[in-house]
Amino acid sequence: MKTLRETLADAAVRHIAVGHFNISDLLTLRAIVAAARELAVPVMIGVSEGERDFMGVRQVAALVQSMREEYQHPIYLNADHTHSLEAAEEAARAGFDEVIFDGSKLDFNENVARTKRAVESLRSINSDIVIEGEIGYIGSSSEVLAETPKGASLAPGELTTPEEAKRFVEATGVDVLAPAVGNMHGLLVSMVRGETRKRLDIERIRRIAAVVGKPLTLHGGSGTADEDLAAAIKAGITIVHINTELRVAWRQGVERGLAEHPNEVAPYKLLPPAFEAIERIVRERLALFGRM
Ligand SMILES: [Zn+2]
Repeated sequence: MKTLRETLADAAVRHIAVGHFNISDLLTLRAIVAAARELAVPVMIGVSEGERDFMGVRQVAALVQSMREEYQHPIYLNADHTHSLEAAEEAARAGFDEVIFDGSKLDFNENVARTKRAVESLRSINSDIVIEGEIGYIGSSSEVLAETPKGASLAPGELTTPEEAKRFVEATGVDVLAPAVGNMHGLLVSMVRGETRKRLDIERIRRIAAVVGKPLTLHGGSGTADEDLAAAIKAGITIVHINTELRVAWRQGVERGLAEHPNEVAPYKLLPPAFEAIERIVRERLALFGRM
């Protein structure tokens, strides 16, 4: 089976993207894997620090590994948005395929210094681990938001420049870069209602990809216009993160299950609507991101 590094290199050459979906429970993991197997595409599973606290770092690693082995399917595990070196090292030791060291809220030089230190330390634990760095703060909450996050780099003048991107990658030695290109974590209420969609700066992505020469990740992909996602992948995005859409589907599916079975108490009889809602979204997104 290909390593994550090889899978990303392959996707970059073919101008397609690997889907990255976050989980907080086994139901969501199983729904994501079912969709990826159906489409016969690799998939990345993400767990943020909060999601890891909830599931257990070693426990989520064991779950993903057991499914990878049983199905012989490329399922990779990423320690999403890791803010401390200790948490990054813990994930690397547990066998994660990727760690995102997130210093995007720090000033540029501090972000470079801390990310560089994380790269050195993580490589000493696992020389093949994929390490992603971030520049440009795009909010931190994958939830339904009343307004755009304070301090986020969303206006054209605040987005990542190709010069910054190049400097950051060269100074830190990261394998993958997450830039701010019009994307944002979370969904606005109007996006959940389907009234608005996120729009991306495609030309900026193309210019950053050209100077960086590494895979780029699009964070906060939920609620992005389909045509923008497709164009961003053509322009150089290699990983697309989807979280909030799945959380909304999880909640709506749980509510439907409870409403349909008011006297039921067996979770496995109540939760299938959530599984189906999540699987459908993952299938649609993976089909859009492209086949390997
Ligand atoms: Zn993210």
